[in-house]
Amino acid sequence: MPTRAPFAALPHVPDHPAVERDVLELWEREGTFDRLRKRNRGGPPFSFMDGPITANGPAGLHHGGRTFKDLFQRYKAMRGFDQRYQNGFDCQGLWVEVEVEKALGLNSKREIEEYGLAEFAARCKERVAHFSEVQTEQSKRLGMWMDWDNDYYTFSDTNIEYIWGFLKQVRERGWLYKGHRSTQWCPRCGTSLSQHEQAGEENYTELEHPSLYVRFRLRGEREGQALVVWTTTPWTLPANVAAAVSPDAEYGRREDGDWVAVERFPNDTFVERLRGDALVGWRYDGPFDHLPAQEGIEHRVIPWDEVSLAEGTGIVHIAPGSGAEDFELSRVHDLPVLMPIDESGRLLPGYGDLEGRPADAVEEPVVESLRERGLLVGAGTLVHRYPICWRCKTPLVFRIVDDWFISATEIRGQMLEANATVEWTPPQYKKRMDDWLRNMGDWNISRKRYFGLPLPFYPCDCGHLNVIGSRGELDERATRGLEGLTELHRPWIDDVTIRCESCGRDDVRRVVEVGDAWLDAGIVHFSTLGWKNPEWVPGGNATGAAAGLTGADLPDHAHWEKWFPAEWVTEMREQIRLWFYSQSFMAVALDGRSPYRKVLTYEKVLDETGREMHKSWGNSIELNEALDRMGADIVRWIFCEQSPSQPLRFGYGIADDVKRRLLTFWHSVAFFVTYARIEGFDPEAEAEGELRPLDRWLEARTAQLVREATDAYERYWTPSVIAAFEAFVDDLSNWYIRRSRRRFWDGDRAALRVLWEALTAALQVIAPVMPFVAEHLWRNLVSEEQSVFLSPWPEVADVDEALVAEVAEVRAVVTLGRRARDFAGIKHRQPLRRLVVQGAAVARSHVDEIREELRVKEVEFGEVEATELLVKPHLPALGPRLGRDLPAVREALSRGEFEELGNGRFRAAGHELAPEEVLVERRGREGWAVAADAEAGVTVALDTSLDPELELEGRVLDLIHRLNSMRREAGLELTDRIAVTLPAGAAELLQHADRIKEETLAVEVRTDGDLAEPQIAKA
Ligand SMILES: [Zn+2]
Ligand SMILES: [Zn+2]
Repeated sequence: MPTRAPFAALPHVPDHPAVERDVLELWEREGTFDRLRKRNRGGPPFSFMDGPITANGPAGLHHGGRTFKDLFQRYKAMRGFDQRYQNGFDCQGLWVEVEVEKALGLNSKREIEEYGLAEFAARCKERVAHFSEVQTEQSKRLGMWMDWDNDYYTFSDTNIEYIWGFLKQVRERGWLYKGHRSTQWCPRCGTSLSQHEQAGEENYTELEHPSLYVRFRLRGEREGQALVVWTTTPWTLPANVAAAVSPDAEYGRREDGDWVAVERFPNDTFVERLRGDALVGWRYDGPFDHLPAQEGIEHRVIPWDEVSLAEGTGIVHIAPGSGAEDFELSRVHDLPVLMPIDESGRLLPGYGDLEGRPADAVEEPVVESLRERGLLVGAGTLVHRYPICWRCKTPLVFRIVDDWFISATEIRGQMLEANATVEWTPPQYKKRMDDWLRNMGDWNISRKRYFGLPLPFYPCDCGHLNVIGSRGELDERATRGLEGLTELHRPWIDDVTIRCESCGRDDVRRVVEVGDAWLDAGIVHFSTLGWKNPEWVPGGNATGAAAGLTGADLPDHAHWEKWFPAEWVTEMREQIRLWFYSQSFMAVALDGRSPYRKVLTYEKVLDETGREMHKSWGNSIELNEALDRMGADIVRWIFCEQSPSQPLRFGYGIADDVKRRLLTFWHSVAFFVTYARIEGFDPEAEAEGELRPLDRWLEARTAQLVREATDAYERYWTPSVIAAFEAFVDDLSNWYIRRSRRRFWDGDRAALRVLWEALTAALQVIAPVMPFVAEHLWRNLVSEEQSVFLSPWPEVADVDEALVAEVAEVRAVVTLGRRARDFAGIKHRQPLRRLVVQGAAVARSHVDEIREELRVKEVEFGEVEATELLVKPHLPALGPRLGRDLPAVREALSRGEFEELGNGRFRAAGHELAPEEVLVERRGREGWAVAADAEAGVTVALDTSLDPELELEGRVLDLIHRLNSMRREAGLELTDRIAVTLPAGAAELLQHADRIKEETLAVEVRTDGDLAEPQIAKA
């Protein structure tokens, strides 16, 4: 039996960060998480696979989505599910390399090589070790419960070996090939980048580039004439080999001999006109024929259907070594390919004075040279959207390189089929995934870098490609270099040579490339769960670079069968083309199934006004700062409250609003605690007292909350959890407690018990969202020693729907009654004579409550008479739509010439007006205030006339309110009795002395002629 709840008094406002520090310490001290895991061991499995966080810097605000990972694991744990709780760190690839380069002040691949690959690898590993620790602390602070001693690290030898095994299978199926193609290339990183890495909107930026119009002089019988081309990449002109025209377009020659597309220059005068196909085959002098690189190149005009007539001149300069489409054209038309730049983006030998200059720094000499030779028609600048490196933000160029690819042709259909089995939340993202799968190209898996997955490709001179599938296979086939191989990384792996399985040659070397980092994260469903592993290996994932960082085991195949596929995964939407894609690719290839059954995906974080967050704009918020200043519960709440299909708005204003709203719940708990202390209420004791209809209603409402929240958790839809909780708290505080104050005052044990049950169920339901406050209050209300997370999930019971609907209608009437008062400008305390209610049939049995709540003497049910309907245009909505017709509609409305169409719609001056386009007010007859809720079909009319009796009563109620405020200000206990002295002028109020005594706990009320203001004294 747990110790009894302490019912400690609560401060008026919670200090979230302080509460959270206490709770973290409590969990640590009690080993709460371990106890929970132990309790659930052997329960039904809930398989969550963590998408690895890049251990490359402190976690940022956008990692606040880790809330979802924790929240749903907590929910499932409270329901008794057995879980793995394995956190993952992403550890190698460009991510880490670029940051280490920055930290070391290295600026090129040459500098990395001078620094030394072994040293560089050590620095990368140190960075990962450091930031995985930092991120662990941040995650704990956010409230994440994970098995922090057994994380997986994607740079472990085990993970690498599993990828090797995947690549070997891919090879066996004939999907692996070495491509020679034009690719997007980062000159700073010195590597090609893949379609899926680069596809994000954030990988483009507006850049200013030169805009040049250049003459290509024609030869032969067209001598003296020229083609005019347009380009924004001057550095590609020295590599020109052809000019493309649209075969169907019309081209014209100007007086000066320049040829352009007629459509582009409709106002020009042309002395000759030809269809594009007539230009095909013309020869011309290249713009840089004097350069050695251009020796022997024959320049000619080729046809191309894709020539744009929307920009430029309609004649396109073709440099197959510097553009993807250009390269494709070179294959079709058998054009020579000149590659002008090296891997750092500098011009190569053979390009004269330009040699050694970066591509983006040759504009001036190129322009100068063209001008001198009379080839420059015009020069300006252009701002356009341009791709930049996803990692280092350097503008990309195109280069022709040899890369390793996995063909997507055969797997595409299977991946689409696998995706058809997946349940996406929000559902529209399923189609996004389909779209991506339909459009994805072959997977470029090679990067010309250092600290990454070493591709296990060993091409032999005999023409055979050896692919190593495991460490064991490497050991078997190695002929040299194994002794220095402490981990499967460069440079050590590069010293290993193997024997060719085809010709027996014994010095075959690995290619130098490393792998795409998304292979690392994509394989984890296999590498962490022990796929095809015959025997469980303790510490088997703590291998290679991960040794010493984790204790993660390599389980056996039976374990994999138990936990694969994951029931659920969650990440940001951009992961559709990244992690969701790579893990699905690998799982479908290896096992033919999707690696996940359900996905929750969400949008990025913006500031509270909806702008992107940028340090330079001063609106970015660090995760640590948010946790320290607003508290983890509030951060989590903000992530949960908004729809994941919209960008998430985040900021301190939003946090303050959340805290303010949460106070209603806090104050409800505080209210309970106050009376429970006074009464010495014991939730363990046998129930006493009789339940009233209002109690049964709160029980029904509590059951409804549990049902709604459970349903929302099962759908992975947190906005509905929050909405259900807030609606419940409103009912609890603004109806149940408000209507029951006197009973608490009277020490009604039934009321205390019903309220206690409602509060504790609400705590359980909201605990996954805000674990800290929930735990803190649970320890106060239920048990000092037992965590809310060790309590069983509240039972989902039947709800008395009729009772819930009935009270909802009563609350609707009361809300309208208050609104009618507000219209009429009469304060809520002033008693009134009469209320007429139309339409709320089931509220009839609650007349007494309505009367009390609205302070009216009589409530009648019937027609609300003679209401005048006033309809005005809502200008911001209606103005833009109606434009010139607006005045006529406004006129008609003001004259009352309109027709009511029902459901809030109206017709006036021939226009149908939607509810959001009009402002509607109902005015009662003289002396009545009217309010209506069209949707609920309820209208109320309030008699606003006052008589002396009502006025006197109003004054009495004002006095009671004032005296109670004075009690609070004097710091009196709720149970203290007082004596009241009133000024002589208030003698009239003594007619109601009994009521004043009762409601202020006064033992006497008298007047004193000398007083100007009422006084109280403790009696
Ligand atoms: Zn880069
Ligand atoms: Zn061979």
